[in-house]
Amino acid sequence: MDQDMQNVMLPSLYKVRCPNCGSANFKMVGQLNAAKNYSIKKMVLDAVDIYIDPENEATHENPNALEYSCNDCKESFLAGPFVAAPEEILQTPATISIERLKNMYGCAVSFIIYCNGCKVGEVKNGKTFTFQTWLRYNIVAVTSVTGVAFKESTIRFEAQPGGTIYYKFNQKFL
Ligand SMILES: [Zn+2]
Repeated sequence: MDQDMQNVMLPSLYKVRCPNCGSANFKMVGQLNAAKNYSIKKMVLDAVDIYIDPENEATHENPNALEYSCNDCKESFLAGPFVAAPEEILQTPATISIERLKNMYGCAVSFIIYCNGCKVGEVKNGKTFTFQTWLRYNIVAVTSVTGVAFKESTIRFEAQPGGTIYYKFNQKFL
């Protein structure tokens, strides 16, 4: 593994569970606070300062907390990312491409892409956004500019080292 990556604290939602029923089956609802603009680089740098709480205490004061909704009991809850455990980290990153299909709805504005609880980029109408993940278990979701996730926009998948994954998105993943 890249020496640098061993010392980086990568955000992960792998250990997040619904506080009401314990389910790991949840979807992203969206942002509570004003958008924080994370580039991937900034995300990695910030991670050292941000994800220090081992109890993952997500509150309204935590600017990194996002709201999720349990698919089993339907409760909503807040969660900030955990620090990824070493066994979650891939030897080489996987590449994810998300193609936003042309659609009249919101055609002038970018959609915001989240991976593992952090913003990783934006995608314009009819364009494709490509990013990398170092984590094996990933949760990706797409929000509007207002920070509200599209209803069927949460996907979870297992990435392979060096693998490539391609999704099409048209208000939901296809
Ligand atoms: Zn639940």
